[in-house]
Amino acid sequence: MTRLRVAVLGSTGSIGLSTLDVLARHPDRFEVFALTAHSNVARLREQCLAHRPQFAVVVDAAAAGKLSADLLSAGSSTRVLVGEGALSEVAAHEQVDAVMAAIVGAAGLRSSLAAAQAGKRIMLANKEALVMSGPLFMNAVREGGATLLPVDSEHNAVFQCMSGPGATQAGVTRADVRRVLLTASGGPFLRTPASALRAVTPEQACAHPRWVMGRKISVDSATLMNKGLEQIEACLLFALPPAQVEVVVHPQSIVHSLVEYIDGSMLAQLGNPDMRTPIAHALGWPERIASGVESLDILRAARLDFEAPDAARFPCLGLARAAAEAGGTAPAVLNAANEVAVEAFLQRRLSFLEIPEVIERVLARHTTQPADSLDDVLSADDWARHEAHAALTAAAGVCA
Ligand code: NAD
Ligand code: MG
Repeated sequence: MTRLRVAVLGSTGSIGLSTLDVLARHPDRFEVFALTAHSNVARLREQCLAHRPQFAVVVDAAAAGKLSADLLSAGSSTRVLVGEGALSEVAAHEQVDAVMAAIVGAAGLRSSLAAAQAGKRIMLANKEALVMSGPLFMNAVREGGATLLPVDSEHNAVFQCMSGPGATQAGVTRADVRRVLLTASGGPFLRTPASALRAVTPEQACAHPRWVMGRKISVDSATLMNKGLEQIEACLLFALPPAQVEVVVHPQSIVHSLVEYIDGSMLAQLGNPDMRTPIAHALGWPERIASGVESLDILRAARLDFEAPDAARFPCLGLARAAAEAGGTAPAVLNAANEVAVEAFLQRRLSFLEIPEVIERVLARHTTQPADSLDDVLSADDWARHEAHAALTAAAGVCA
């Protein structure tokens, strides 16, 4: 069997590590072609020695020099490439079959798009790239002849529940689907009263009850913006209007999402909350491969609870829904303002409750434009970051 050559973009992150764990279980099926990191040279060096990729990409030039010297002295033949452009280069490389898009945030847009345009199998974890560029991204997938496989656990669950004759490709409209229900754990502040939310810290926000993830998505899970981004992501992947994608809080995180059909059937995908399941699904698709994930002990789980999300305590959900409905540049603006606000929160320059305030302020000042080209998307992103920084200053003024 010829091995699938895989580029793992963002290999040093949480999804990157889980991906390498699954890949290492199947040396007969997969070959690691490229690994990439922003600046964590120590971890990337270890990964290169263990997986022996042809290329390693580091965005930071100083870090790249150090990695190159370290690998050379360890006798490694991995070539080190530098800079953002090299991410797209490896993503679109003619020898690459599959790309795990696991860079966090807008930084992953160009490389994910490059993989789409080059017709690769794209395993998409980097939801921000899709949210920002929406129809542009889906067009690139279609025109490039790429295969887009969702790795986000909810979307992977929906994809699994939609797989059937004639619907094995994401992006195909299903007239027989009544609605999709995306499950949300509710995050660490599910039961925190509104009055206590103002004082929560980045450490508390990042202590997710069910999943261990990077810091940005952990904060997004705490504000429920993650679910808002996922709603936009679902509309794009499954060609559904926002009204057909609902969010339901499910604190146990065992049901990863549900699809309801017009005949009243509701299908769900269940499993332990471990990203290696959706990653293995995307890597092996259309076959199933072992992921290393423990069997779900359904007797121990015993009960599955569902409840409506609290839109008043978590306004990010409503902001994302509004951006989904507005379309065009609105999702890119929402995403950029959120990235700036989350970073400021992590640096203790903004309180938790000010995150949605900053996003709302930026969205209120935005006039939605068409997002037909990469330039449209990038200039909306740029504008929103600038506006969000101004809103941060205003928020700091209010606090002082
Ligand atoms: P993380 O912070 O753990 O890792 C991010 C990776 O991106 C790292 O390898 C880092 O080096 C790289 N990176 C960061 N900034 C970069 C830049 N400017 N240029 C190039 N590379 C850069 O994040 P994560 O939790 O692994 O999440 C990655 C993506 O997957 C996010 O979009 C997230 O929303 C999505 N996702 C994550 C999970 C999860 O369980 N962690 C679940 C679903 C979706
Ligand atoms: Mg998710």
